[in-house]
Amino acid sequence: MNQFLAQPQGETFKLFYTKLMQWFDDHGRHDLPWKPQEKYTEAQNIYHIWLSEIMLQQTQVVTVIPYFFNFIEKFPTATDLANADQETVLKAWEGLGYYARARNLHAGAKIIRDEFNGEIPLNYQDIQNIKGVGRTTAAAIISQGISRPFAILDGNVKRVMARVTGAMHPEKQLEKALLPFAYLMAAQNRPDDYTQAIMDFGATICSKSPKCDQCFWQDHCITHQHQKMDQIPAKKVKLIKKDIELYPVIIQNQHGELVFHQRIQESIWHNLYEFPHLDSHLDELENLFNIDNAKVLNIQELPSFKHILTHINYEVHPIVIQVVSYEDTLQFNDQVYTWVNAEIYSAYAKTKPTNDLLNIIHIQS
Ligand code: SF4
Repeated sequence: MNQFLAQPQGETFKLFYTKLMQWFDDHGRHDLPWKPQEKYTEAQNIYHIWLSEIMLQQTQVVTVIPYFFNFIEKFPTATDLANADQETVLKAWEGLGYYARARNLHAGAKIIRDEFNGEIPLNYQDIQNIKGVGRTTAAAIISQGISRPFAILDGNVKRVMARVTGAMHPEKQLEKALLPFAYLMAAQNRPDDYTQAIMDFGATICSKSPKCDQCFWQDHCITHQHQKMDQIPAKKVKLIKKDIELYPVIIQNQHGELVFHQRIQESIWHNLYEFPHLDSHLDELENLFNIDNAKVLNIQELPSFKHILTHINYEVHPIVIQVVSYEDTLQFNDQVYTWVNAEIYSAYAKTKPTNDLLNIIHIQS
Protein backbone atom coordinates (compact mmCIF):
# COMPACT_ATOMS: atom_id res chain seq x y z
CA MET A 1 0.00 0.00 0.00
CA ASN A 2 1.32 3.45 -0.89
CA GLN A 3 1.55 5.37 2.35
CA PHE A 4 2.61 8.68 0.81
CA LEU A 5 -0.06 11.35 0.34
CA ALA A 6 1.12 11.42 -3.30
CA GLN A 7 3.99 9.63 -5.03
CA PRO A 8 7.13 11.77 -4.41
CA GLN A 9 8.78 13.09 -7.58
CA GLY A 10 12.52 13.62 -8.14
CA GLU A 11 11.85 17.14 -9.50
CA THR A 12 10.19 18.09 -6.24
CA PHE A 13 13.36 17.27 -4.31
CA LYS A 14 15.55 19.30 -6.66
CA LEU A 15 13.30 22.32 -6.16
CA PHE A 16 13.18 21.78 -2.40
CA TYR A 17 16.97 21.47 -2.31
CA THR A 18 17.44 24.75 -4.22
CA LYS A 19 15.04 26.65 -1.98
CA LEU A 20 16.50 25.09 1.18
CA MET A 21 20.02 26.22 0.28
CA GLN A 22 18.79 29.75 -0.53
CA TRP A 23 17.08 29.82 2.86
CA PHE A 24 20.25 28.52 4.55
CA ASP A 25 22.43 31.15 2.87
CA ASP A 26 20.12 33.90 4.14
CA HIS A 27 18.96 32.55 7.51
CA GLY A 28 21.04 29.50 8.52
CA ARG A 29 23.50 29.33 11.39
CA HIS A 30 26.94 29.93 9.92
CA ASP A 31 28.81 30.61 13.16
CA LEU A 32 28.50 27.33 15.03
CA PRO A 33 31.74 26.75 16.96
CA TRP A 34 32.18 23.15 15.73
CA LYS A 35 32.30 24.22 12.09
CA PRO A 36 35.77 23.38 10.70
CA GLN A 37 38.21 26.23 11.29
CA GLU A 38 41.68 26.88 9.89
CA LYS A 39 43.23 27.34 13.33
CA TYR A 40 42.61 23.64 14.06
CA THR A 41 44.06 20.56 12.38
CA GLU A 42 41.72 18.43 10.26
CA ALA A 43 41.76 15.76 12.99
CA GLN A 44 40.70 18.32 15.60
CA ASN A 45 37.96 19.71 13.34
CA ILE A 46 36.56 16.22 12.83
CA TYR A 47 36.83 15.60 16.58
CA HIS A 48 34.81 18.80 17.21
CA ILE A 49 32.08 17.68 14.80
CA TRP A 50 31.91 14.27 16.48
CA LEU A 51 31.62 15.89 19.93
CA SER A 52 28.89 18.24 18.75
CA GLU A 53 26.92 15.48 17.02
CA ILE A 54 26.80 13.42 20.21
CA MET A 55 25.99 16.44 22.38
CA LEU A 56 23.23 17.61 20.03
CA GLN A 57 21.31 14.35 20.27
CA GLN A 58 18.05 15.35 22.01
CA THR A 59 19.60 18.66 23.07
CA GLN A 60 19.33 22.16 21.60
CA VAL A 61 22.26 24.10 20.12
CA VAL A 62 22.04 26.89 22.68
CA THR A 63 22.37 24.38 25.55
CA VAL A 64 25.23 22.51 23.91
CA ILE A 65 27.52 25.48 23.09
CA PRO A 66 28.96 26.11 26.62
CA TYR A 67 29.46 22.35 27.16
CA PHE A 68 31.23 22.10 23.80
CA PHE A 69 33.68 24.90 24.68
CA ASN A 70 34.31 23.37 28.10
CA PHE A 71 35.00 19.95 26.54
CA ILE A 72 37.46 21.16 23.92
CA GLU A 73 39.29 23.18 26.56
CA LYS A 74 39.51 20.21 28.96
CA PHE A 75 40.02 17.56 26.27
CA PRO A 76 41.52 19.25 23.16
CA THR A 77 41.89 15.96 21.27
CA ALA A 78 40.22 12.55 21.18
CA THR A 79 43.32 11.11 22.89
CA ASP A 80 43.04 13.64 25.74
CA LEU A 81 39.42 12.58 26.17
CA ALA A 82 40.39 8.90 26.11
CA ASN A 83 43.10 9.46 28.74
CA ALA A 84 40.77 11.23 31.16
CA ASP A 85 39.12 9.15 33.85
CA GLN A 86 35.40 8.56 33.51
CA GLU A 87 34.50 10.66 36.54
CA THR A 88 36.17 13.72 35.01
CA VAL A 89 34.22 13.17 31.76
CA LEU A 90 30.92 12.71 33.60
CA LYS A 91 31.61 15.85 35.65
CA ALA A 92 32.18 17.86 32.45
CA TRP A 93 28.90 16.43 31.11
CA GLU A 94 26.95 17.09 34.32
CA GLY A 95 23.61 18.77 33.56
CA LEU A 96 23.49 17.82 29.88
CA GLY A 97 21.46 14.66 30.64
CA TYR A 98 21.27 11.31 28.85
CA TYR A 99 24.55 10.23 30.45
CA ALA A 100 24.89 7.18 28.24
CA ARG A 101 26.12 9.66 25.60
CA ALA A 102 29.01 10.74 27.84
CA ARG A 103 29.97 7.15 28.60
CA ASN A 104 29.79 6.29 24.88
CA LEU A 105 31.87 9.36 24.03
CA HIS A 106 34.53 8.29 26.50
CA ALA A 107 34.49 4.66 25.27
CA GLY A 108 34.52 5.94 21.66
CA ALA A 109 37.56 8.13 22.37
CA LYS A 110 39.44 5.06 23.65
CA ILE A 111 38.62 3.22 20.41
CA ILE A 112 39.86 6.22 18.39
CA ARG A 113 43.08 6.29 20.45
CA ASP A 114 43.73 2.55 20.43
CA GLU A 115 42.49 1.47 17.01
CA PHE A 116 42.79 4.58 14.84
CA ASN A 117 45.91 6.25 16.17
CA GLY A 118 43.97 9.10 17.79
CA GLU A 119 42.23 10.27 14.59
CA ILE A 120 38.60 9.67 13.74
CA PRO A 121 38.53 7.56 10.56
CA LEU A 122 36.73 9.24 7.67
CA ASN A 123 35.50 6.01 6.29
CA TYR A 124 31.80 5.25 6.54
CA GLN A 125 32.35 1.67 7.77
CA ASP A 126 35.24 2.29 10.17
CA ILE A 127 33.64 5.31 11.78
CA GLN A 128 30.65 3.20 12.80
CA ASN A 129 32.99 1.06 14.93
CA ILE A 130 33.27 4.01 17.30
CA LYS A 131 30.93 3.44 20.22
CA GLY A 132 27.83 5.64 19.98
CA VAL A 133 28.27 6.43 16.26
CA GLY A 134 25.43 5.01 14.19
CA ARG A 135 24.57 5.47 10.52
CA THR A 136 23.22 9.01 10.82
CA THR A 137 25.99 10.32 13.09
CA ALA A 138 28.59 8.80 10.74
CA ALA A 139 26.95 10.54 7.79
CA ALA A 140 26.77 13.86 9.64
CA ILE A 141 30.47 13.71 10.63
CA ILE A 142 31.73 12.78 7.15
CA SER A 143 29.47 15.16 5.24
CA GLN A 144 30.35 18.11 7.49
CA GLY A 145 33.97 17.17 8.03
CA ILE A 146 35.10 16.55 4.46
CA SER A 147 32.02 17.52 2.44
CA ARG A 148 31.16 14.07 1.07
CA PRO A 149 27.53 13.26 0.25
CA PHE A 150 26.08 11.00 2.93
CA ALA A 151 22.41 10.86 3.82
CA ILE A 152 21.56 11.94 7.32
CA LEU A 153 18.24 10.99 8.80
CA ASP A 154 18.10 11.99 12.45
CA GLY A 155 14.84 12.90 14.19
CA ASN A 156 14.77 16.47 12.82
CA VAL A 157 15.58 15.45 9.27
CA LYS A 158 13.08 12.58 9.35
CA ARG A 159 10.34 15.02 10.33
CA VAL A 160 11.21 17.38 7.46
CA MET A 161 11.50 14.60 4.88
CA ALA A 162 8.25 13.02 6.04
CA ARG A 163 6.40 16.31 5.60
CA VAL A 164 8.02 17.14 2.26
CA THR A 165 7.12 13.67 0.93
CA GLY A 166 3.79 13.37 2.79
CA ALA A 167 4.92 10.08 4.36
CA MET A 168 2.14 8.60 6.52
CA HIS A 169 4.17 5.52 7.55
CA PRO A 170 4.14 4.23 11.12
CA GLU A 171 7.23 5.26 13.04
CA LYS A 172 9.01 1.91 12.65
CA GLN A 173 8.72 1.93 8.84
CA LEU A 174 9.47 5.62 8.29
CA GLU A 175 13.27 5.55 8.11
CA LYS A 176 13.33 2.80 5.49
CA ALA A 177 10.70 4.61 3.41
CA LEU A 178 12.61 7.91 3.52
CA LEU A 179 16.14 6.61 2.99
CA PRO A 180 16.08 6.78 -0.85
CA PHE A 181 14.96 10.42 -0.70
CA ALA A 182 17.57 11.24 1.92
CA TYR A 183 20.24 9.90 -0.48
CA LEU A 184 18.74 11.86 -3.36
CA MET A 185 18.98 15.08 -1.37
CA ALA A 186 22.49 14.42 -0.08
CA ALA A 187 23.74 13.72 -3.60
CA GLN A 188 23.27 17.37 -4.64
CA ASN A 189 26.00 20.02 -4.28
CA ARG A 190 27.48 21.34 -1.06
CA PRO A 191 26.99 18.23 1.15
CA ASP A 192 28.45 19.93 4.25
CA ASP A 193 26.12 22.94 3.99
CA TYR A 194 23.18 20.72 3.07
CA THR A 195 23.59 18.69 6.27
CA GLN A 196 23.66 21.85 8.36
CA ALA A 197 20.80 23.41 6.36
CA ILE A 198 18.34 20.57 6.74
CA MET A 199 19.12 20.18 10.44
CA ASP A 200 18.63 23.95 10.98
CA PHE A 201 15.42 23.97 8.97
CA GLY A 202 14.04 21.07 11.03
CA ALA A 203 15.06 22.74 14.29
CA THR A 204 13.71 26.20 13.53
CA ILE A 205 10.95 26.12 10.85
CA CYS A 206 9.66 22.60 10.22
CA SER A 207 9.78 21.88 13.95
CA LYS A 208 7.30 19.79 15.95
CA SER A 209 4.92 22.78 15.81
CA PRO A 210 5.88 23.95 12.31
CA LYS A 211 6.01 27.62 11.37
CA CYS A 212 4.40 27.09 7.96
CA ASP A 213 3.62 30.78 7.51
CA GLN A 214 7.39 31.49 7.55
CA CYS A 215 8.30 28.56 5.32
CA PHE A 216 9.65 28.85 1.76
CA TRP A 217 8.01 25.50 0.93
CA GLN A 218 4.47 26.32 2.00
CA ASP A 219 3.10 26.70 -1.55
CA HIS A 220 4.48 23.26 -2.54
CA CYS A 221 4.11 21.35 0.70
CA ILE A 222 1.79 18.38 0.38
CA THR A 223 1.50 17.99 4.15
CA HIS A 224 0.49 21.61 4.49
CA GLN A 225 -2.00 21.30 1.62
CA HIS A 226 -3.67 18.41 3.48
CA GLN A 227 -3.27 20.16 6.86
CA LYS A 228 -1.71 16.99 8.32
CA MET A 229 1.21 18.63 10.13
CA ASP A 230 0.12 17.10 13.45
CA GLN A 231 -0.16 13.61 11.90
CA ILE A 232 3.09 13.60 9.87
CA PRO A 233 5.36 12.11 10.95
CA ALA A 234 3.25 9.51 12.78
CA LYS A 235 3.58 9.75 16.52
CA LYS A 236 5.79 7.31 18.40
CA VAL A 237 4.03 4.61 20.35
CA LYS A 238 3.95 5.97 23.88
CA LEU A 239 6.29 4.36 26.40
CA ILE A 240 4.67 2.98 29.48
CA LYS A 241 6.34 4.88 32.28
CA LYS A 242 7.41 3.36 35.56
CA ASP A 243 6.71 5.12 38.87
CA ILE A 244 9.59 4.81 41.34
CA GLU A 245 9.81 6.18 44.89
CA LEU A 246 13.25 7.30 46.07
CA TYR A 247 14.25 7.82 49.71
CA PRO A 248 17.61 9.63 49.70
CA VAL A 249 19.18 10.22 53.10
CA ILE A 250 21.37 13.29 53.50
CA ILE A 251 23.61 12.69 56.49
CA GLN A 252 25.57 15.70 57.67
CA ASN A 253 28.12 15.82 60.50
CA GLN A 254 29.21 18.64 62.79
CA HIS A 255 31.81 19.78 60.21
CA GLY A 256 29.25 20.11 57.40
CA GLU A 257 30.62 16.96 55.70
CA LEU A 258 28.32 14.54 53.87
CA VAL A 259 28.39 10.94 52.67
CA PHE A 260 27.80 9.86 49.06
CA HIS A 261 27.14 6.64 47.27
CA GLN A 262 28.35 5.89 43.72
CA ARG A 263 25.70 4.16 41.58
CA ILE A 264 27.33 1.08 40.21
CA GLN A 265 24.27 -0.65 38.81
CA GLU A 266 23.60 -0.15 35.08
CA SER A 267 21.18 2.76 34.63
CA ILE A 268 21.19 6.21 33.07
CA TRP A 269 22.99 7.37 36.22
CA HIS A 270 25.63 4.63 36.12
CA ASN A 271 28.79 5.78 37.99
CA LEU A 272 27.26 9.08 39.13
CA TYR A 273 27.17 10.02 42.81
CA GLU A 274 24.07 10.33 44.95
CA PHE A 275 23.06 10.21 48.59
CA PRO A 276 22.56 6.80 50.19
CA HIS A 277 19.01 5.54 49.80
CA LEU A 278 16.57 3.65 51.94
CA ASP A 279 14.68 0.88 50.20
CA SER A 280 11.46 2.06 51.73
CA HIS A 281 10.63 4.90 54.02
CA LEU A 282 8.15 3.52 56.54
CA ASP A 283 9.97 0.31 57.32
CA GLU A 284 13.29 1.90 58.01
CA LEU A 285 12.79 5.36 59.47
CA GLU A 286 12.98 4.11 63.05
CA ASN A 287 16.36 2.49 62.34
CA LEU A 288 17.88 5.82 61.45
CA PHE A 289 18.45 6.69 65.08
CA ASN A 290 20.92 3.82 65.36
CA ILE A 291 23.90 4.78 63.24
CA ASP A 292 27.24 3.26 64.11
CA ASN A 293 30.14 5.65 64.74
CA ALA A 294 27.83 8.66 65.19
CA LYS A 295 25.25 10.20 67.50
CA VAL A 296 22.05 11.29 65.79
CA LEU A 297 21.00 14.83 66.77
CA ASN A 298 18.07 15.42 64.48
CA ILE A 299 16.03 13.78 61.70
CA GLN A 300 14.01 15.92 59.34
CA GLU A 301 11.82 14.93 56.41
CA LEU A 302 11.95 17.43 53.54
CA PRO A 303 8.99 18.02 51.19
CA SER A 304 8.77 15.41 48.44
CA PHE A 305 9.39 16.42 44.82
CA LYS A 306 9.12 14.83 41.41
CA HIS A 307 11.89 14.12 38.91
CA ILE A 308 10.55 13.15 35.50
CA LEU A 309 12.53 11.20 32.90
CA THR A 310 11.25 9.96 29.55
CA HIS A 311 10.72 6.44 30.91
CA ILE A 312 10.44 6.90 34.69
CA ASN A 313 8.55 9.19 37.08
CA TYR A 314 10.58 9.49 40.26
CA GLU A 315 8.95 10.70 43.45
CA VAL A 316 11.75 11.81 45.76
CA HIS A 317 11.21 11.76 49.55
CA PRO A 318 14.36 13.19 51.15
CA ILE A 319 15.38 12.82 54.77
CA VAL A 320 18.10 14.93 56.44
CA ILE A 321 19.97 13.54 59.44
CA GLN A 322 22.28 15.70 61.54
CA VAL A 323 24.88 13.73 63.46
CA VAL A 324 27.98 14.14 65.54
CA SER A 325 30.54 11.79 64.08
CA TYR A 326 33.44 10.24 65.95
CA GLU A 327 35.39 8.72 63.08
CA ASP A 328 36.36 9.32 59.44
CA THR A 329 33.84 6.75 58.27
CA LEU A 330 30.21 6.07 58.95
CA GLN A 331 28.41 2.76 58.86
CA PHE A 332 24.90 3.13 57.54
CA ASN A 333 22.48 0.56 56.11
CA ASP A 334 25.22 -2.12 56.06
CA GLN A 335 27.61 0.07 54.08
CA VAL A 336 30.67 2.00 55.13
CA TYR A 337 30.88 5.58 53.88
CA THR A 338 33.69 8.11 54.09
CA TRP A 339 32.87 11.67 55.09
CA VAL A 340 33.64 14.15 52.33
CA ASN A 341 33.83 17.91 52.44
CA ALA A 342 32.33 20.35 49.93
CA GLU A 343 35.59 20.76 48.01
CA ILE A 344 35.66 17.04 47.27
CA TYR A 345 32.01 16.37 46.54
CA SER A 346 31.60 19.48 44.38
CA ALA A 347 34.03 17.72 41.99
CA TYR A 348 31.80 14.62 41.84
CA ALA A 349 29.47 14.14 38.88
CA LYS A 350 26.13 13.79 40.63
CA THR A 351 22.63 12.78 39.63
CA LYS A 352 20.18 15.60 38.96
CA PRO A 353 18.03 14.89 42.07
CA THR A 354 21.23 14.94 44.18
CA ASN A 355 22.19 18.37 42.88
CA ASP A 356 18.60 19.55 43.42
CA LEU A 357 18.79 18.32 46.99
CA LEU A 358 22.10 20.07 47.60
CA ASN A 359 20.48 23.28 46.40
CA ILE A 360 17.44 22.67 48.57
CA ILE A 361 19.56 22.27 51.69
CA HIS A 362 21.55 25.37 50.64
CA ILE A 363 24.82 23.60 50.18
CA GLN A 364 26.84 24.68 47.21
CA SER A 365 27.28 21.68 44.91
S1 SF4 B 1 5.03 24.13 4.96
FE1 SF4 B 1 5.04 23.56 7.10
S2 SF4 B 1 5.02 21.34 7.14
FE2 SF4 B 1 5.58 21.97 5.07
S3 SF4 B 1 7.82 21.96 5.07
FE3 SF4 B 1 7.16 24.03 5.57
S4 SF4 B 1 7.09 24.12 7.81
FE4 SF4 B 1 7.17 21.94 7.22
